Amino acid sequence: MTSMLIENAAGIFTGLSGDAMRTAGAIRIRNGVIVAIGMLQPEPGERRLDAKDCVIYPGLVSTHHHMFQSVLKGVREGINLPLAGWLRSVPYRFWSAIDEEALAVAARIALAELLLSGTTTVADHHYLFSDTFRFDPAQVIFDVARSLGIRLVFCRGGATVSRHFDTDQSVPMPVETLDRMLQSVEACAQRFHDPSPDSLTHVALAPTTPTWSLDPGELREVIAAARRMKLRLHSHLSETSDYVDFCLSVHGKRPVHWLAEHDWLGEDVWFAHLVHLDPEEVAILARSGTGMAHCPQSNCRLGSGVAPADAMARLGGAVSLGVDGAASNEAADMISEMHSCWHTHRAVKGADAVTVEDVVHWATAGGARVLGLPRIGTLAPGQQADIAIFSLDQPRHFGMHDPMVAPVTCAGSAHVRHLLVGGRPVVEDGVIPGLDLQKLKFDAARVVSRLAA
Ligand SMILES: [Zn+2]
Repeated sequence: MTSMLIENAAGIFTGLSGDAMRTAGAIRIRNGVIVAIGMLQPEPGERRLDAKDCVIYPGLVSTHHHMFQSVLKGVREGINLPLAGWLRSVPYRFWSAIDEEALAVAARIALAELLLSGTTTVADHHYLFSDTFRFDPAQVIFDVARSLGIRLVFCRGGATVSRHFDTDQSVPMPVETLDRMLQSVEACAQRFHDPSPDSLTHVALAPTTPTWSLDPGELREVIAAARRMKLRLHSHLSETSDYVDFCLSVHGKRPVHWLAEHDWLGEDVWFAHLVHLDPEEVAILARSGTGMAHCPQSNCRLGSGVAPADAMARLGGAVSLGVDGAASNEAADMISEMHSCWHTHRAVKGADAVTVEDVVHWATAGGARVLGLPRIGTLAPGQQADIAIFSLDQPRHFGMHDPMVAPVTCAGSAHVRHLLVGGRPVVEDGVIPGLDLQKLKFDAARVVSRLAA
């Protein structure tokens, strides 16, 4: 039995909402599970982790990403475009050039950024699957995640119909039949989906968007298949006002009402963005337990708007944070995401719209709820020891009265002293064990120059 004591921290955020967010003392971990929090004395033979001048948060949970985009940052042709033009100019233009090496390098960049911002669980929505690939994208992404020790929810995306973004310069996006998609998801789940409480690998069914990636007649079959396979369903929804206009004009309903008709709501479903919702849609989502992956930085970058995450949370809805792909968020780390979230809502709705504690709750327990992983996202006895220890040793942290809020309010580059996933160190003294960042930098530059050519 291995035992570890994390001691001397300035305080602990538990991930729970309201006053239950704050506690103090030491944390004892045995065999990857938290067994006690409070005034604890070291036991003989116990490993001790010093958290002096640090604050402790639950490991952060990002519920929406496209890790392949981490080699598509700052593409000049797309940097000032809204969603549709950006899709055409960046991911849809480059998708066929993302080979096995580019995908592995991109995943390594994405996960390094996340680990170094205190993230222990990531949901990656991968939607590039083609007969032209001589590799399995799921295998590549799981291999990288396993090598770094992070928890991964692989959201197997794809489409049965093609969105008309293809130009003469781009290869048409791949499509597959619904049968083929579902068989492939089932095979992926058989290989990688492990529902046990300490599992590092999960699979979700995730057609890219219900609106443009599937035939409406297929929606019921998709949700039924997800439930039969006991997988969660993930997709994009209502990211822009164009999205809502399209649904109104083609289906005669706003997106949430349209999906309610097809049984695409529930505690086992979560959508990225949900920016353009009317109050009735917010209430329906909250009542049904349908999750929101709130991606404020990507929504700001693409000029899409500010999602009513605060309103949905006030109704008891399932709100989480996601960094989204780095091609539309060059700051795809959870510290930046939390800071932007805290700022964006207050800029638009006033200083009482969202508190630091709200933001941390969404980035931890909220993420666990949305992903259906109840043993992570909070720090309490019985929970997995997914723990972020942030060091407050930079000038911007000096002079703080309430150090607990510093990782969110001070932003900038987070200084993760230690990060644990199920009690295993995935960042030690600010370094990811076994990852050569210099080599990754050169690999990234080589991939980018090949893509640019
Ligand atoms: Zn997305």
